[in-house]
Amino acid sequence: MEEQLSVWFSQNGRDLPWRRTRDPYAILVSEVMAQQTQVDRVVPRFERWLERWPTVETLAEASPADVIREWQGLGYNRRALGLHRAAQQVAAHGWPSDLTELPGVGRYTADAVACFALGRAVLPVDVNVRRVQERTGHAFTAAAAQALMDLGATVCVARIPRCDICPLAEGCPSRGSRYEPLRKQGPFEGSFRQRRAATLRLVADAEQPVGDLDPDAVASLARDGLVLVADGTVSLPG
Ligand code: SF4
Repeated sequence: MEEQLSVWFSQNGRDLPWRRTRDPYAILVSEVMAQQTQVDRVVPRFERWLERWPTVETLAEASPADVIREWQGLGYNRRALGLHRAAQQVAAHGWPSDLTELPGVGRYTADAVACFALGRAVLPVDVNVRRVQERTGHAFTAAAAQALMDLGATVCVARIPRCDICPLAEGCPSRGSRYEPLRKQGPFEGSFRQRRAATLRLVADAEQPVGDLDPDAVASLARDGLVLVADGTVSLPG
């Protein structure tokens, strides 16, 4: 199965900028950005980020305020602070052998950096990889990681897999199956996430009097370390 997948990938794989590097820092940035943001939105932001902070040391030296500002529009802003702290930890102590020791780095992200940057034989299992594994029942190796991600994202998709163009169809026990819609995240419009994002955007532009802002959003952002409240003013940290 892996052979067919590899042939398919050589013809259909997505050309993503972080696939042209083995720099663990660049891979980490791409993985953290792509955790909850669509890949096509990540690509230009990844390139801009790497131009601004090309190394782990340059990011470590940046102010949290600049990091939060640069992250605007990617959503789930806590990821920016986690990435910044991770860079500071690596700049000070080097890469840990267990990458999950880094702030904001869970099992999947650690495995992705280990596989794509460090060449370790570990298969990072994201939602796309898990889906293909479960449907085919096949135990893929780490060498198939990127191909599995692309197959899961473009062919073996969640609800109506495109089995007619799938390179694994011949040996797949799930071929032709249909699946229930996944429980979707609630709409962003009108949500507390949106209120937080709007409040953070205002503060990222310029510090604001606390009385002018949504109090619940300010409290939540302050708890996450994304804003500071002092003397009646809300500002970005650092
Ligand atoms: S044949 Fe269908 S269900 Fe099986 S891996 Fe391919 S797309 Fe997924």
